Amino acid sequence: MELAKRRGFFWQAAPLHNPIAGFYDYAPMGSLVKRRFESLWRNYFLSLDDNFYEIEASVIMPENVFKASGHLASFVDPIAKCKKCGHAERADHLLEDVLKESFEGLAASDMIALIKKHGIKCQKCKGPLEEVGVLNMMFPLDVGTGKEAKKAYLTPETAQGAYVNFALAFDVMRRKLPLGLAIIGKAFRNEISPRQGLIRMREFTQAELQIFFDPDAITSHPKFKDIEGYQLRLLPAKSRDSGKVAVLPAGQAKELGLPEFYLYHMAMVQKFYLEVLRLPEQRFRFRELVGEEKAFYNKYHWDIEANLDTLGGWKEIAGLHYRTDHDLQGHGQVSGQKVAVNIEGKEFVPHVLEISMGVDRNVYGLLDLAYSEEPERVVLKFPRAVAPFDAGIFPLVRKDGLDAKARVIFDVLKQHGFRVFYDESGSIGRRYRRIDEIGVPAGITVDYDSMQQEDVTLRDRDSMQQVRIKIEQLPAKLRAFLQGAAMEASGK
Ligand SMILES: [Zn+2]
Repeated sequence: MELAKRRGFFWQAAPLHNPIAGFYDYAPMGSLVKRRFESLWRNYFLSLDDNFYEIEASVIMPENVFKASGHLASFVDPIAKCKKCGHAERADHLLEDVLKESFEGLAASDMIALIKKHGIKCQKCKGPLEEVGVLNMMFPLDVGTGKEAKKAYLTPETAQGAYVNFALAFDVMRRKLPLGLAIIGKAFRNEISPRQGLIRMREFTQAELQIFFDPDAITSHPKFKDIEGYQLRLLPAKSRDSGKVAVLPAGQAKELGLPEFYLYHMAMVQKFYLEVLRLPEQRFRFRELVGEEKAFYNKYHWDIEANLDTLGGWKEIAGLHYRTDHDLQGHGQVSGQKVAVNIEGKEFVPHVLEISMGVDRNVYGLLDLAYSEEPERVVLKFPRAVAPFDAGIFPLVRKDGLDAKARVIFDVLKQHGFRVFYDESGSIGRRYRRIDEIGVPAGITVDYDSMQQEDVTLRDRDSMQQVRIKIEQLPAKLRAFLQGAAMEASGK
C-alpha cells in the first residue's frame, strides 16, 4: 500500500479532504495497469464466441429493476448495533475478528446466539450489543425533484444492465443463442465495514460477461474437445478441510456433477489467468461454494481465488455462476414484458452463465504477485502484458546530443505503437530504480558509445542484465523481448 501510494498506483479517494473508507482513486500508474487489464479481458472474453458483444448500461436504474432482481428484498448485511454508543458493525465480521473463523452466510438468529454465548461486546466502547438486524446495501437516490421524483438506486452489480437489455439486444443481434453481453463498469455497495483496500470497496469496477443460452444445451459445448484434457485446478467443497487442490482434466471433472458447458468456461477462465495474466499456477484455484454460501439463485457457483501474501492467503477475485433463468424470469414478472425467446418453434426463457470479475481485486492481485523485495531494490515483476509501460528511454547524461538522440528513439518507438516514457533527470541508477518500482520491463539507455556506433543498451528489469542493440533493430528486438524472448537472444 505504501508503494502504491508513493509510485502513483492508487490512494484513498478525495485525498485533499477527510477520505471516507471504501473509496479509492487510481493515480497515473494504477490507471495504466487497470486499463491494460480491462483491454486484455475485453480481447479475450469477447473472442470466445462471435456472438459476444460489449454493451454499456446506466449505473442509475429504477426501483423496479431491483424488485425484479431480488436486491431490494434480500441484498442485506447482518448488522450488530451497540446500545450505548450506536456503533454498527457487520455481525459476521465481528464474529470472525473475535472467534477467528468464517461466519459468512450464517442466519441472523444464529449470529446473535453466538454473540451472546461468547459475551461479545461493542469493539468501540465495550457496551452491550443489540439484536442483529439487517441493512440493505444499495445506495438509494431520488431522481428529479418534488412530486415527480423517481426512486432509483446505484446498481450493486453490472449484471442487471445486461439482463434488462437482453430482449432488445437479442432482437437486434439476429436472434441467436448463445448471446454474450459483456459490461465493464462501476458497481456500488454500501458496505458497513469496508476493509483490505481494493478488496472490499463501496464503489468498484466489475468486468462481467453474461452468456444467455438454451438450457437444453448445457450438457455440451461445440469446443469441449479442445479442453477435454486441460488440467483444471479445483477445490471441491468435500476437500475443503484438507485444502488440497485437485488437478483434474476437464473431461474427468464431469464426475463432480458439472456439465460440459460450465466446464468449458471454467477452462477458459483458468487459461485467462495462467496464460494471459501469467499467474503462477500454484497461486490459482477454483473453490466450490455450496448451500447457504452461494447466492440462492446460483445452481453452480465456483469462486476463482488467488493466493495473495499481502492478504494472508486465498482471496476471491472472480466467480463463475450458473444463474439459471432466475434474473430474466424476475424481470419478466415485474415488467409484464415477454422474456421468452422463440427459436425455430421452440419457446423458452434463456438461462445465464455469468463470468464475473472484480477489476480492482484483480489489479490488487497483480500488484501483490508482482511485488518482490531484493537486497538492493524493490521491484514489481509484472507480466509484460500488464506493466504500465513497455520501456523507459534514458539519455545517460543530458548533454552532448545524448538527450536529442534519446528523444528521437522515443518518438520512433511511439510511432511503432510501444508504450514508452522518457526520463532524463537524476542519476541513471535512480532512474532504473524508479522503473523497477513501477514494473516497467525494459530500460533503454543512450550513452556516448551510441553516438559513434548507432546502438543502445537494453536492460531487463528482472535480471538487471544489459545487452547492446543496433538502433535500427530496436523496434523488432523490443517487440520480441516483450513477447517473451530471452534477453540473451536480443544482443551481446
Ligand atoms: Zn459502543
